[in-house]
Amino acid sequence: MTHPPCTHPTRTNGVCDTCGDCIHDVILNGACFYCGTTDIDPHAISPKKLPDVIAPDRLIRKK
Ligand SMILES: [Zn+2]
Ligand SMILES: [Zn+2]
Repeated sequence: MTHPPCTHPTRTNGVCDTCGDCIHDVILNGACFYCGTTDIDPHAISPKKLPDVIAPDRLIRKK
């Protein structure tokens, strides 16, 4: 199921303040940094195999 693209002007940490839409900032492990989904268009990211689930603690950027 999809929803229309978000055009709201304000976002907090990549997530829309109004509708909760996420910009899906994909990080190195293939998951979105903001919502954690890996269900992102594979053509938009690097074409390597991804696990189905990414543990939340793996979403934290290394210092
Ligand atoms: Zn929105
Ligand atoms: Zn996201």
